[in-house]
Amino acid sequence: MVLHADLHSHSSASDGTTPPADVMARAAAAGLDVIGLTDHDTVAGHAEAAAALAPGLTLLPGMELSCRRDGHSVHMLAYLFDPADPELAAEMAAIRESRVSRAREMVARLAEMGVPVTWEQVSRIAAGGVVGRPHIARALAEVGAVPTPADAFSPDWIGAGGRAYVSRYALDPGRAIALVGAAGGVTVLAHPRGVGRGWQIPDEVIAELAGAGLSGIEINHPQQDEQQRSRLRVLAATLGLIPSGGSDDHGELTGFRLGVEQAPEGSYQALVERASGGAPIVG
Ligand SMILES: [Zn+2]
Ligand SMILES: [Zn+2]
Repeated sequence: MVLHADLHSHSSASDGTTPPADVMARAAAAGLDVIGLTDHDTVAGHAEAAAALAPGLTLLPGMELSCRRDGHSVHMLAYLFDPADPELAAEMAAIRESRVSRAREMVARLAEMGVPVTWEQVSRIAAGGVVGRPHIARALAEVGAVPTPADAFSPDWIGAGGRAYVSRYALDPGRAIALVGAAGGVTVLAHPRGVGRGWQIPDEVIAELAGAGLSGIEINHPQQDEQQRSRLRVLAATLGLIPSGGSDDHGELTGFRLGVEQAPEGSYQALVERASGGAPIVG
């Protein structure tokens, strides 16, 4: 029997467009056995998700930590850690606070550029979730500055290094691995070769992170093609990393794609075996 596990998804607790309960309902409808909820820098969606599980669906509690290495953004998926661990909780809070201050600064820069986007508008779109660039992108589309939210991620707007772009506080990936590990969790490097993500994380860096205690790397991801996947499979085997996968669904923003990418057979169980800070929640 094949286990269908999508280990990467977002809800409105960060920059997804649908509430955690709705993500769980869509996961069940997509025929998944396991769904990883990995909102950016927050576990705020877990309780609602756990309460909404259909029978037969298992929630893998997680998050996607914002990291930076050599000036490049790096995303680190973390699962089954103790969210009450003081050091980890403090870092997560620092990242979220920095997200708010940088978003406010980007809105201020857009205002200077003559774009009628306001903080109130961005806050309304974020609706209490962890604010991110996708919320500002939707605001830009709302006022007609760009045709679609995706068009906002360009050098003219809020793409990395763009006119209104502001960077934010982020963790060193090695420190993220250590923090999550100390909280009993496991880490998986997200979309290391994602097309359109800027930095293709070099083999040497992935090897270094493996040495620092990284458990897995994401191989099956919508932004990685077959050529990249086969290279990553070889790298994972060489470094002893668990090959993982997920849809990185953000609801409407990514065209409702839960389940289109899944973790290779056996990977979910391997990750759970390595973790001690929490357990999957069975519906
Ligand atoms: Zn990511
Ligand atoms: Zn993601």
